[in-house]
Amino acid sequence: MRKFFVLSLLLSTLSLLLTLSSLAEEIRVTEIESKRDRGFDYLDIYTTGWSEARGLLLEDKLYIDFPGARIGKDIKIMRKKSSRIRSIQAVQKDQKTARIIISLKREVEYDIVNVFGKNKSVVEIGDRTTNIYAHQFAWESKEIKKKARPLKPVRLAPIVSEKTLSLKGKKIILDPGHGGEDPGAFTSDGQPEKILTMQTARETARLLREEGATVYLTRDEDRRSNLQDVAEFANKTGADIFISIHYNSIDNSNISGTETYYYNPISRNFAAIMHEAIVRGIKRKDHGMHRTPFYVVKNTNVPSVLLEPVYISNPEESYLAKAASFQQELAESILKGVKSYFRSKSD
Ligand SMILES: [Zn+2]
Repeated sequence: MRKFFVLSLLLSTLSLLLTLSSLAEEIRVTEIESKRDRGFDYLDIYTTGWSEARGLLLEDKLYIDFPGARIGKDIKIMRKKSSRIRSIQAVQKDQKTARIIISLKREVEYDIVNVFGKNKSVVEIGDRTTNIYAHQFAWESKEIKKKARPLKPVRLAPIVSEKTLSLKGKKIILDPGHGGEDPGAFTSDGQPEKILTMQTARETARLLREEGATVYLTRDEDRRSNLQDVAEFANKTGADIFISIHYNSIDNSNISGTETYYYNPISRNFAAIMHEAIVRGIKRKDHGMHRTPFYVVKNTNVPSVLLEPVYISNPEESYLAKAASFQQELAESILKGVKSYFRSKSD
């Protein structure tokens, strides 16, 4: 009797262990079903366990990643015809991440709802409602014609210079947007963009220098500079990368979220890595990485990005942008992106 008890205890422990280990190792993505409803496209994505889906919009591709999951061998993809979605693919991004790639026919907005307890994620895809580039283009076309004082860039040496630091020997240009007679956009309580971009640039410069980088600021005071001079400076400095910092604004206070811009093909990988780092870091709505001919990304010949981390025309993000904790988080995200960019190049 006693022997039997020990045996059954052993067996049940064994089966419990097996169940636990299979739970731990294998969550599968089993089914994707696209639907149309009230002017939106919806994707219902089913998994065999809990994995929180996260999105990343890079130009005309929307990536939905499931951390800790695998694509099921016989995954079912059911598609409805759509004016937005060109194709849906399921791939294993790496050992730990299942990825759904949605190729798009036009500019979209998206949202993800993870339905806890149902192992289902719903991706909502709708049209982009406003012309997001209007603000920056309008400013540039005015700015190009205006007289500015000569550029007064500063060079900031590494704070720490041990050989092992990840950014040792790297030269990085930070360009705080606006300045002087050009305030840029305003927060709802009248804080000008030019002050916020300066704060972000200074905080980011400090973090980059602590990792061994030499940082150039295109301005370190309240001074208007000319976009041509900025681009020219970037081209003659022999820098590794160029980062222009702005805050977004639009005449619709409901709009919020993160955008990243690049133009030249040499900047694409850099922009994608920066966009992902910032979207994951500050966790605002993902408005995508876009290829757009803004002056400083178009006329520079080093990998260049223009960042618009949040909308200061949105009350919540305007409040955030002024907070020291947010500035810190943003600077850390930029540092993380820069580090993974250089890592991706040395692999
Ligand atoms: Zn701006």
